[in-house]
Amino acid sequence: MAGGHLMEKKTIVFIIMDGLGDRTSDRMKGRTPLEAAYTPNMDHMARNGIAGMIYPVKQGLVCGSDTSHLSLLGYDPLKVYTGRGPFEAMGLGMDVMAGDIAFRANYATRKGKTIADRRAGRIDESTEPLSRAISIGIDGIKFDVSSGVEHRAALVMHGHGLSSDVSDTDPHENGKEVHIPTPKNESAAITSSILEKYLEKSRIILDEHQMNQKRIADGKLPANELLLRGAGKAPDLEQFQEKYSMKGSYIIGIPMIRGLAKMIGMNEIPVKGMTGSHNTNYNGKLVAASENIGKTDFILMNIKAPDAAAHDRNPEKKLEAMERIDAAMENILGREDECLVILTGDHSTSSVSGEHTGDPVPVVFYTAGQRKLGATGFNENHCSKTGFSMESGNVMNYSMQLVDRLEKYGA
Ligand SMILES: [Zn+2]
Repeated sequence: MAGGHLMEKKTIVFIIMDGLGDRTSDRMKGRTPLEAAYTPNMDHMARNGIAGMIYPVKQGLVCGSDTSHLSLLGYDPLKVYTGRGPFEAMGLGMDVMAGDIAFRANYATRKGKTIADRRAGRIDESTEPLSRAISIGIDGIKFDVSSGVEHRAALVMHGHGLSSDVSDTDPHENGKEVHIPTPKNESAAITSSILEKYLEKSRIILDEHQMNQKRIADGKLPANELLLRGAGKAPDLEQFQEKYSMKGSYIIGIPMIRGLAKMIGMNEIPVKGMTGSHNTNYNGKLVAASENIGKTDFILMNIKAPDAAAHDRNPEKKLEAMERIDAAMENILGREDECLVILTGDHSTSSVSGEHTGDPVPVVFYTAGQRKLGATGFNENHCSKTGFSMESGNVMNYSMQLVDRLEKYGA
């Protein structure tokens, strides 16, 4: 701690614009969407703050939102990340706790032991009634199923002493027999046998379920098998408050990142008029952040729109999102005595290819009394020119020393 100062520490407002970085395109006249966008508020922060570039996790890695958010929060994904399963389950809004085992799942059509269609004819109705029916307990283990779009779903096994070293039941091809879950080593034997019991029970429930009876009567394929793949154990992450001695709060719409924030013990700051994953209530989010400066130590915000627009290969839509986000930034401008604002992205998403890329993303640390590195605006080009860069895993420590929350390293 900074030697006995009694003054209040500044609140860190960490704003992650998902898929912020991009590549240039003809549609943007050779610029990136952020370079082409009119963003006076974020430009002001870049000019008057520490602007540079962040490499998500490590130079050259192409990161998902799960691994890049972990890293930005100071949890090294190369050490703690156990696969997509738990994060995809959280993405469906499921509660996932340390030690739970999560699988990616498909509703499929099974005839005898053979998988006739891995997607049950691409289901066009919600499978939620089926998922509810097969969310049951077996031998003290709670099985939770949640439906995604079409045939997609996820299964979470809640309990103690479970192992993720269990094989897929998904044969990954139509016309093949469904696999029996098998342990990859001794430690997974119990998990595997409970899972097998569960699947036998679920087949009976799914075969008898009225939704499947009706599908058969309508000449459709029944969704009578839950095919599993990609078992992953939810990581046992150190709680944010213990790790940093800061109270953490979040303002996040997308379920996967909300799940991560919850998992590390952060508290939700409600946003007025927020309607879940597809909300674009930028102003509401920034108002909520502004109202909580001084009330909490750390606010994590994720804004999904730039990533979504880039996945749609729509640079114009990304540009528009950036301009609307910038307008909402007005709510926190002028608070630099009370807070440190961090503006950055979790990774770059190309609005040309529609895919994530390994390019670094712009960052600004903006607070009163800090250095100014001479960036002339907030975008890939201007922020690169300061020459200041870091890997995402160092952002938390760097921020904490800016608000005098780090202890001295050495004498
Ligand atoms: Zn993405």
